[in-house]
Amino acid sequence: MTRLFNLAVIGAGIAGLSCASALRAAGHTVHIFDKGRSASGRMSTRRNADGGGQCDHGAQYFTARDPAFAAEVARWQQAGVAALWAPRITVLNDPNLRQPSPLERFVGTPGMSAPAQWLAGSLNVSLGSTIKRLHRDGAHWQLESAEQGRLDARFDAVLLALPAPQARPLAESHAPALAAVAASARMRGCWALMLQFDGPVDLPFDAAFVNSGPLRWIARDSHKPGRDPARETWLLHAEAEWSEAHLELLPDEAAALMLAAFAALGGPVPQTCTAHRWRYADMRQPLLDGCLWDGSLRLGVCGDWLNGGKVEGAWLSGQRLAARLS
Ligand code: FAD
Repeated sequence: MTRLFNLAVIGAGIAGLSCASALRAAGHTVHIFDKGRSASGRMSTRRNADGGGQCDHGAQYFTARDPAFAAEVARWQQAGVAALWAPRITVLNDPNLRQPSPLERFVGTPGMSAPAQWLAGSLNVSLGSTIKRLHRDGAHWQLESAEQGRLDARFDAVLLALPAPQARPLAESHAPALAAVAASARMRGCWALMLQFDGPVDLPFDAAFVNSGPLRWIARDSHKPGRDPARETWLLHAEAEWSEAHLELLPDEAAALMLAAFAALGGPVPQTCTAHRWRYADMRQPLLDGCLWDGSLRLGVCGDWLNGGKVEGAWLSGQRLAARLS
């Protein structure tokens, strides 16, 4: 018979939620901790202060190539938290360099954060809890949070569902081998710019890959299913190397450069714009380990960076780590 554990998952992005859901289904007791104000991590949606508009400023869409993930996405569709998105998609600036693949693209509905928040709804999640240290107490783990200090709860295992630079310092003093893998993973930043317009934007596409210049991706966010099409909203993502080189700019400075690049592609001047800096967006070449697990310490790591990148890779990484304990 499988032994049942009391488990801590650090990180309520899609990897952590996938891992926690699988472990809970296997009968374990699972507690998730996240530093953010809501679950979803980089699958995120920014809502306007007036409660009206919104924009996905992290992951833009996801694919489902693996049968297990495709089944999960079907479950999300049935629950009304995901849908197919079929934008008119094009390639700008040297279209010969890269063509959009004929893929099924899915998005969260009504926002990209919806699938994660739906999963979190049936799990035990503590938000606003930044875990800054792990303590080993005999055979058990205790967590120390920046906001609440050392927590009373003792856990049989700790699972870090975090970007590599955030997993490394937590693993370092206990599992140097795991920390070394995280240290080898160089994650890149990304500037995102959310644009609101007071009328329709007359561009002949809803999304475009941009093959040169500061921008890499532009999309009419309000075209996605479940959004208000009358609130014309666009999202611009800067190219990774450009973002890295400009990571320390003030948001207004990055916004001005990205708006100029958008104008050069025919984009009009928005009514409002908001810049967001992702410090750890992705890796040029994500690892293919699936997950990391130290069975003697009962310390594991999962996340997109360990499994090919992207939403699908993150969800599958969470499942792989859960399978090591089940
Ligand atoms: P995350 O979502 O990063 O989750 C980690 C969680 O850990 C976060 O919620 C964070 O708050 C929390 N955390 C961090 N440190 C601590 C701590 N010390 N204590 C407690 N909590 C902590 N993927 C696609 O499939 N398609 C796309 O189009 C796409 N575009 C993207 C564009 C951008 C700009 C970005 C940033 C990402 C994009 N991605 C895309 C990648 C996708 O968002 C990620 O692969 C996926 O969401 C990663 O999930 P995760 O659970 O591994 O990590």
